[in-house]
Amino acid sequence: MKTAIVTGGGSGIGQAVVRRLRADGLNVAVLDLKPGDDEAGFVADVTNRAQVEEAVGAAREKYGPITVLVNAAGLEMFRRFTDITFDDWQRVIDVNLNGVFHCVQAVLPDMIEAGWGRIVNISSSSTHSGQPYMSPYVAAKSAVNGLTKSLALEYGPAGITVNAVPPGFIDTPMLRKSAERGYVKVEESIASTPVRRIGKPEDIAAACAFLISEEAGYITGQILGVNGGRNT
Ligand code: NAD
Repeated sequence: MKTAIVTGGGSGIGQAVVRRLRADGLNVAVLDLKPGDDEAGFVADVTNRAQVEEAVGAAREKYGPITVLVNAAGLEMFRRFTDITFDDWQRVIDVNLNGVFHCVQAVLPDMIEAGWGRIVNISSSSTHSGQPYMSPYVAAKSAVNGLTKSLALEYGPAGITVNAVPPGFIDTPMLRKSAERGYVKVEESIASTPVRRIGKPEDIAAACAFLISEEAGYITGQILGVNGGRNT
């Protein structure tokens, strides 16, 4: 039985990935600031290397080597570029980019040892065209796409695939909060989405389930948009 870690698995997209991977027969540990009452939940801030190592170590001890990692923890911030402080910038980069760095480094030794591994990074469709008032977020998520491609080249020979899934508009607490504050117009977004609906967390979970499967072993370094045909 394979063991996966899903960061951000306490809410939204990450939570749907947890449900799906469990339904597919994996052991899944949740690494989140708020893992809720998940029986395999580990509290950790992805920006804190010591906390990540402790959580990964505890999950490994309980379920065995970690050979699947889905990085879904993320933090949005909407602010005009001229109003962003360097602390704002650093926090958004820290969670969305450096968090991926820490989690990948923490699990890679298990994957290398196993000669098999799957990493999926949840980036964002905003990386396709940019997004006003979200510059640090888009910068971080774009860097995650670049990191994905580089790691795919570096670890392909070790049997490890690394892909990114940039979601479009997905109905999660993060999106609803942004909509309530007027930063996202849900109805307008649906109208400009070719399939004419908002995405479900399960849409992203399905892509993750495929990318971590045995049969996706020839797919690596790819940025698989799941966005209803809408590229921004
Ligand atoms: P969400 O807010 O519902 O869930 C995010 C989870 O990440 C939460 O459980 C939160 O506690 C956790 N988290 C945040 N900071 C953390 C940290 N420092 N350490 C550990 N856990 C942390 O959001 P979501 O919409 O499910 O987003 C999941 C991912 O998808 C994020 O990376 C987000 O940027 C990305 N995304 C979402 C959308 C969308 O429309 N919902 C679109 C594009 C990209």
